[in-house]
Amino acid sequence: MNSKKCLLLSLVSLLTVACATNPLTGRKSLNFVSNSQLLPSSFQQYQEVLSSNKIITGTPQAKQVEEVGNRIRKAAETYYKSIGKSSALDGYQWQFVLIDDSKTANAWCMPGGKVAVYTGILSICKDDAGLAVVLGHEIAHALAGHGAEKISQSYISELGGQVLGGVTNNQALRQVINQYYPVASGITLLRYGRKQETDADEMGLYIMAMAGYDPRQAPIFWQRMIESTGGSNTPEFLSTHPNPENRIADLNRIMPKALQFYQSYHTNKL
Ligand SMILES: [Zn+2]
Repeated sequence: MNSKKCLLLSLVSLLTVACATNPLTGRKSLNFVSNSQLLPSSFQQYQEVLSSNKIITGTPQAKQVEEVGNRIRKAAETYYKSIGKSSALDGYQWQFVLIDDSKTANAWCMPGGKVAVYTGILSICKDDAGLAVVLGHEIAHALAGHGAEKISQSYISELGGQVLGGVTNNQALRQVINQYYPVASGITLLRYGRKQETDADEMGLYIMAMAGYDPRQAPIFWQRMIESTGGSNTPEFLSTHPNPENRIADLNRIMPKALQFYQSYHTNKL
Protein backbone atom coordinates (compact mmCIF):
# COMPACT_ATOMS: atom_id res chain seq x y z
CA MET A 1 0.00 0.00 0.00
CA ASN A 2 1.62 3.23 -1.06
CA SER A 3 0.74 6.47 0.66
CA LYS A 4 -0.94 7.95 -2.46
CA LYS A 5 -3.39 5.08 -2.70
CA CYS A 6 -4.03 5.30 1.02
CA LEU A 7 -4.70 9.02 0.77
CA LEU A 8 -7.08 8.48 -2.12
CA LEU A 9 -9.01 5.89 -0.15
CA SER A 10 -9.14 8.24 2.80
CA LEU A 11 -10.60 10.98 0.67
CA VAL A 12 -13.28 8.97 -1.06
CA SER A 13 -14.44 6.82 1.79
CA LEU A 14 -17.18 7.81 4.16
CA LEU A 15 -15.80 5.35 6.64
CA THR A 16 -12.74 6.06 8.68
CA VAL A 17 -9.99 4.68 6.49
CA ALA A 18 -6.67 4.79 8.20
CA CYS A 19 -3.07 4.16 7.33
CA ALA A 20 -1.13 2.58 10.15
CA THR A 21 2.63 3.00 10.39
CA ASN A 22 4.87 0.42 11.99
CA PRO A 23 6.79 2.49 14.58
CA LEU A 24 9.89 0.31 14.31
CA THR A 25 10.17 -0.35 10.58
CA GLY A 26 8.32 2.66 9.18
CA ARG A 27 6.20 0.46 6.90
CA LYS A 28 2.79 1.93 6.12
CA SER A 29 -0.28 -0.26 5.85
CA LEU A 30 -3.99 0.04 5.27
CA ASN A 31 -6.06 -0.58 8.37
CA PHE A 32 -9.62 0.45 8.95
CA VAL A 33 -10.62 -2.55 11.07
CA SER A 34 -10.64 -1.59 14.73
CA ASN A 35 -9.39 -3.85 17.51
CA SER A 36 -12.91 -3.96 18.94
CA GLN A 37 -14.26 -5.25 15.59
CA LEU A 38 -11.55 -7.81 14.95
CA LEU A 39 -10.34 -9.14 18.27
CA PRO A 40 -13.49 -10.88 19.58
CA SER A 41 -13.58 -13.03 16.41
CA SER A 42 -9.88 -13.72 16.63
CA PHE A 43 -10.12 -14.76 20.29
CA GLN A 44 -13.10 -17.00 19.61
CA GLN A 45 -11.33 -18.75 16.75
CA TYR A 46 -8.20 -19.14 18.81
CA GLN A 47 -10.21 -20.93 21.51
CA GLU A 48 -11.67 -23.24 18.89
CA VAL A 49 -8.21 -24.09 17.59
CA LEU A 50 -6.99 -24.76 21.13
CA SER A 51 -9.91 -27.05 21.88
CA SER A 52 -9.17 -29.17 18.80
CA ASN A 53 -5.45 -29.58 19.53
CA LYS A 54 -3.52 -31.08 22.43
CA ILE A 55 -2.14 -28.17 24.45
CA ILE A 56 0.83 -28.87 26.69
CA THR A 57 0.81 -27.06 30.03
CA GLY A 58 3.07 -27.03 33.06
CA THR A 59 6.10 -28.66 31.43
CA PRO A 60 9.50 -26.91 31.19
CA GLN A 61 8.96 -26.46 27.42
CA ALA A 62 5.50 -24.94 27.87
CA LYS A 63 6.87 -22.60 30.54
CA GLN A 64 9.75 -21.65 28.25
CA VAL A 65 7.31 -20.64 25.50
CA GLU A 66 5.32 -18.54 27.97
CA GLU A 67 8.36 -16.93 29.56
CA VAL A 68 10.16 -16.00 26.34
CA GLY A 69 6.90 -14.78 24.80
CA ASN A 70 5.98 -12.62 27.76
CA ARG A 71 9.47 -11.20 28.06
CA ILE A 72 9.41 -10.00 24.44
CA ARG A 73 5.81 -8.81 24.79
CA LYS A 74 6.66 -6.73 27.87
CA ALA A 75 9.70 -5.18 26.16
CA ALA A 76 7.57 -4.26 23.16
CA GLU A 77 4.83 -2.80 25.37
CA THR A 78 7.41 -0.71 27.20
CA TYR A 79 8.66 0.57 23.86
CA TYR A 80 5.13 1.40 22.66
CA LYS A 81 4.52 3.27 25.93
CA SER A 82 7.77 5.22 25.53
CA ILE A 83 6.65 6.53 22.13
CA GLY A 84 3.06 7.22 23.23
CA LYS A 85 1.52 4.40 21.17
CA SER A 86 0.10 2.16 23.90
CA SER A 87 -3.44 2.71 22.67
CA ALA A 88 -2.61 0.75 19.49
CA LEU A 89 -2.56 -2.35 21.70
CA ASP A 90 -5.90 -1.73 23.43
CA GLY A 91 -7.85 -4.95 23.85
CA TYR A 92 -4.88 -7.27 23.27
CA GLN A 93 -4.93 -10.41 25.39
CA TRP A 94 -1.53 -12.03 25.02
CA GLN A 95 -1.34 -15.79 25.27
CA PHE A 96 1.49 -18.18 24.37
CA VAL A 97 0.61 -21.86 24.11
CA LEU A 98 2.53 -24.97 23.11
CA ILE A 99 0.74 -27.48 20.86
CA ASP A 100 1.79 -31.13 21.07
CA ASP A 101 2.73 -31.93 17.47
CA SER A 102 6.32 -33.00 16.95
CA LYS A 103 5.90 -33.32 13.17
CA THR A 104 5.00 -29.67 12.70
CA ALA A 105 7.86 -27.14 12.68
CA ASN A 106 5.65 -24.11 12.93
CA ALA A 107 4.25 -21.22 14.95
CA TRP A 108 1.58 -18.59 14.29
CA CYS A 109 -0.14 -15.62 15.83
CA MET A 110 -3.73 -14.42 15.57
CA PRO A 111 -4.66 -10.74 15.98
CA GLY A 112 -4.66 -9.45 19.55
CA GLY A 113 -1.65 -11.48 20.67
CA LYS A 114 -2.86 -15.09 20.48
CA VAL A 115 0.25 -17.15 19.76
CA ALA A 116 0.76 -20.88 19.26
CA VAL A 117 4.02 -22.80 18.94
CA TYR A 118 4.21 -26.45 17.83
CA THR A 119 6.63 -28.81 19.62
CA GLY A 120 8.15 -29.69 16.24
CA ILE A 121 9.92 -26.32 16.02
CA LEU A 122 11.55 -26.47 19.46
CA SER A 123 14.49 -28.67 18.45
CA ILE A 124 15.31 -26.15 15.70
CA CYS A 125 14.98 -23.25 18.16
CA LYS A 126 17.36 -25.15 20.46
CA ASP A 127 17.41 -22.52 23.23
CA ASP A 128 15.71 -19.34 24.50
CA ALA A 129 17.36 -17.13 21.86
CA GLY A 130 16.21 -19.42 19.03
CA LEU A 131 12.69 -19.46 20.44
CA ALA A 132 12.88 -15.66 20.73
CA VAL A 133 13.46 -15.45 16.96
CA VAL A 134 10.23 -17.36 16.32
CA LEU A 135 8.21 -15.57 18.99
CA GLY A 136 9.62 -12.15 18.10
CA HIS A 137 8.45 -12.69 14.53
CA GLU A 138 4.97 -13.84 15.61
CA ILE A 139 4.54 -11.09 18.21
CA ALA A 140 5.55 -8.59 15.52
CA HIS A 141 2.68 -9.78 13.29
CA ALA A 142 0.29 -8.96 16.14
CA LEU A 143 1.90 -5.63 17.07
CA ALA A 144 1.99 -4.44 13.48
CA GLY A 145 -1.67 -5.34 12.92
CA HIS A 146 -0.92 -7.54 9.91
CA GLY A 147 -4.16 -9.48 10.40
CA ALA A 148 -6.20 -6.26 10.35
CA GLU A 149 -4.29 -5.12 7.25
CA LYS A 150 -4.99 -8.35 5.41
CA ILE A 151 -8.67 -8.19 6.30
CA SER A 152 -8.85 -4.51 5.31
CA GLN A 153 -7.35 -5.33 1.90
CA SER A 154 -9.64 -8.27 1.41
CA TYR A 155 -12.72 -6.39 2.55
CA ILE A 156 -12.00 -3.58 0.11
CA SER A 157 -11.40 -5.92 -2.79
CA GLU A 158 -14.51 -7.99 -2.12
CA LEU A 159 -16.86 -5.30 -0.90
CA GLY A 160 -15.21 -2.15 -2.17
CA GLY A 161 -18.43 -0.58 -3.41
CA GLN A 162 -20.14 -0.98 -0.10
CA VAL A 163 -17.13 0.23 1.84
CA LEU A 164 -16.76 3.28 -0.34
CA GLY A 165 -20.49 3.88 -0.12
CA GLY A 166 -20.21 4.00 3.63
CA VAL A 167 -22.19 0.83 4.23
CA THR A 168 -21.11 -1.03 7.33
CA ASN A 169 -21.78 -4.67 6.92
CA ASN A 170 -20.75 -6.61 9.99
CA GLN A 171 -21.91 -9.92 8.55
CA ALA A 172 -19.71 -9.43 5.51
CA LEU A 173 -16.78 -8.35 7.65
CA ARG A 174 -17.26 -11.46 9.71
CA GLN A 175 -17.12 -13.61 6.57
CA VAL A 176 -13.88 -11.99 5.49
CA ILE A 177 -12.42 -12.50 8.97
CA ASN A 178 -13.45 -16.17 8.96
CA GLN A 179 -11.78 -16.65 5.63
CA TYR A 180 -8.45 -15.89 7.28
CA TYR A 181 -8.98 -17.82 10.48
CA PRO A 182 -10.12 -21.27 9.47
CA VAL A 183 -11.77 -22.90 12.44
CA ALA A 184 -10.07 -25.97 13.84
CA SER A 185 -9.38 -27.30 10.38
CA GLY A 186 -5.75 -28.14 10.94
CA ILE A 187 -4.86 -25.34 8.54
CA THR A 188 -4.48 -22.87 11.32
CA LEU A 189 -1.75 -20.79 9.76
CA LEU A 190 -2.45 -17.25 8.76
CA ARG A 191 -1.28 -16.61 5.25
CA TYR A 192 0.46 -13.29 5.43
CA GLY A 193 1.89 -11.57 2.39
CA ARG A 194 5.58 -11.37 1.59
CA LYS A 195 5.88 -7.73 2.65
CA GLN A 196 4.21 -8.50 5.96
CA GLU A 197 6.64 -11.37 6.55
CA THR A 198 9.64 -9.15 5.86
CA ASP A 199 8.14 -6.51 8.16
CA ALA A 200 7.66 -9.12 10.92
CA ASP A 201 11.24 -10.35 10.48
CA GLU A 202 12.60 -6.82 10.93
CA MET A 203 10.34 -5.85 13.82
CA GLY A 204 10.81 -9.27 15.43
CA LEU A 205 14.58 -8.82 15.38
CA TYR A 206 14.31 -5.45 17.15
CA ILE A 207 11.88 -6.59 19.83
CA MET A 208 13.84 -9.76 20.66
CA ALA A 209 16.89 -7.51 21.09
CA MET A 210 14.89 -5.09 23.29
CA ALA A 211 14.01 -8.08 25.51
CA GLY A 212 17.70 -8.96 25.88
CA TYR A 213 17.97 -11.84 23.41
CA ASP A 214 21.02 -11.67 21.15
CA PRO A 215 19.72 -10.74 17.66
CA ARG A 216 22.83 -12.30 16.09
CA GLN A 217 21.19 -15.64 16.87
CA ALA A 218 18.48 -14.94 14.28
CA PRO A 219 20.48 -15.69 11.11
CA ILE A 220 21.95 -18.73 12.91
CA PHE A 221 18.44 -19.96 13.72
CA TRP A 222 17.36 -19.59 10.09
CA GLN A 223 20.43 -21.52 8.97
CA ARG A 224 19.40 -24.34 11.33
CA MET A 225 15.91 -24.14 9.88
CA ILE A 226 17.26 -24.59 6.34
CA GLU A 227 19.44 -27.51 7.42
CA SER A 228 16.60 -29.18 9.29
CA THR A 229 14.90 -29.84 5.97
CA GLY A 230 17.72 -32.12 4.85
CA GLY A 231 17.01 -30.79 1.38
CA SER A 232 13.72 -32.64 1.15
CA ASN A 233 10.58 -31.55 2.98
CA THR A 234 10.25 -27.84 3.61
CA PRO A 235 9.04 -27.07 7.14
CA GLU A 236 5.81 -25.09 7.17
CA PHE A 237 7.41 -22.14 8.91
CA LEU A 238 9.78 -21.83 5.95
CA SER A 239 7.40 -22.65 3.14
CA THR A 240 5.00 -19.85 3.99
CA HIS A 241 7.71 -17.30 4.64
CA PRO A 242 10.28 -15.50 2.50
CA ASN A 243 13.17 -17.27 0.83
CA PRO A 244 15.49 -18.24 3.73
CA GLU A 245 18.71 -17.07 2.09
CA ASN A 246 17.19 -13.66 1.35
CA ARG A 247 15.84 -13.37 4.85
CA ILE A 248 19.28 -14.12 6.35
CA ALA A 249 20.81 -11.40 4.14
CA ASP A 250 18.03 -8.97 5.17
CA LEU A 251 18.55 -9.73 8.86
CA ASN A 252 22.29 -9.13 8.59
CA ARG A 253 21.65 -5.82 6.83
CA ILE A 254 19.55 -4.48 9.72
CA MET A 255 21.67 -6.11 12.44
CA PRO A 256 23.43 -2.85 13.48
CA LYS A 257 20.10 -1.28 14.47
CA ALA A 258 19.07 -4.46 16.32
CA LEU A 259 22.38 -4.45 18.19
CA GLN A 260 21.67 -0.91 19.37
CA PHE A 261 18.45 -2.14 21.00
CA TYR A 262 20.36 -5.09 22.44
CA GLN A 263 23.01 -2.79 23.91
CA SER A 264 20.36 -0.44 25.31
CA TYR A 265 18.81 -3.39 27.11
CA HIS A 266 22.12 -4.16 28.81
CA THR A 267 22.88 -0.51 29.55
CA ASN A 268 19.48 0.01 31.20
CA LYS A 269 19.84 -3.17 33.19
CA LEU A 270 23.24 -2.22 34.62
ZN1 LIG B 1 5.21 -14.78 9.59
